[in-house]
Amino acid sequence: MKIEKIIKSNIKNVDFSNLDFGSVFTDHMFTCSYKNGKWLEAEILPYQSISISPSARVFHYGQACFEGMKAFKDQNNKAWLFRPKDNYQRIVKSSKRLAMPCITEKIFMEGLRNLINIDLDWVKPGFGNSLYIRPFIFADQESINATESLNYKFMIICAPASSYYAGDIRVKIEKSFSRAAKGGVGYAKAAGNYAAQFYPTILAKEQGFQQIIWTDSSNHEFIEEAGTMNLFFRIGDTLLTAPVSDSILDGITRKSLIEIAKREKIKIEIRPIRVKEIIEASESGNLKEIFGSGTAVTVLPIIGLGYENKKYDLPRIENSFSSFFKKKLNDIQYNISEDPFDWRVKV
Ligand SMILES: *Cc1c(COP(=O)(O)O)cnc(C)c1O
Repeated sequence: MKIEKIIKSNIKNVDFSNLDFGSVFTDHMFTCSYKNGKWLEAEILPYQSISISPSARVFHYGQACFEGMKAFKDQNNKAWLFRPKDNYQRIVKSSKRLAMPCITEKIFMEGLRNLINIDLDWVKPGFGNSLYIRPFIFADQESINATESLNYKFMIICAPASSYYAGDIRVKIEKSFSRAAKGGVGYAKAAGNYAAQFYPTILAKEQGFQQIIWTDSSNHEFIEEAGTMNLFFRIGDTLLTAPVSDSILDGITRKSLIEIAKREKIKIEIRPIRVKEIIEASESGNLKEIFGSGTAVTVLPIIGLGYENKKYDLPRIENSFSSFFKKKLNDIQYNISEDPFDWRVKV
């Protein structure tokens, strides 16, 4: 691996107490090109713009996928990754679906380790602080022929993150638009999945909701996910989450919460969830909580629902499952508690 370090770090110019998430990047980036059927020598370079042809296929046909993961620093200044192998396996799955070459585990893991170690000062200790890591692959062959590209670039960039209060989150259960369909690319972290969500989300925002709950594309009868988060519903003392599928992304936070729930003997059902069931539970007062799970937010409580022009408020409760899960997960991530699942990986 070729490593070219920055002459003067940019870290002094960053106000870590006031981070605009996702818009400040660390000093370095990782890059590896794929040409003539193989991955070439990887490089770590100062973070910079890249030069790319306007005919690169990614711009025209959207052949691109990504991952999202985090590194955490403990009180002894040691940095930890959370289930990085799962991110590796998922980017392989996404790449296959998009007819892209699979990055090797060695390039992915060594790229990750070396890059984080070079920019280690950017990972701040303290609860809520983390380094958000964005690996991604895109088609950069110069050709607008509508077939899969022959050339690609795999890159990793990192953005320092701090915990921030997202405000009250209300979600709209979507009945006309769909995020993903059976047989489609919803299970892949395909860049285009996000582009397709922006317009319906803008409409939902105009109606007073921050995010959308996507439902099945055939009849809009079953709950899917929130697009950047998987969803959990607490009815009485039972937790419900939908099984992953073609159209529901296999979130690493989601499967971690399921394992924590099982270990903590919290009753959890992984099964298709009817919209009707959630609305009825809300009307009868049995719907106690809804929360989203995802790397960026960990666990995000949702306080209200919208469905067919009606709004439903959730009760404010003490000892919520959402805060319980958030703490359990964070304690493992920050090396505060034991890690009975072997999820933590030293950088
Ligand atoms: C990334 C993502 C999630 C959350 O996955 P995590 O691995 O928990 O971060 C959920 N839904 C979609 C569509 C996603 O792209």
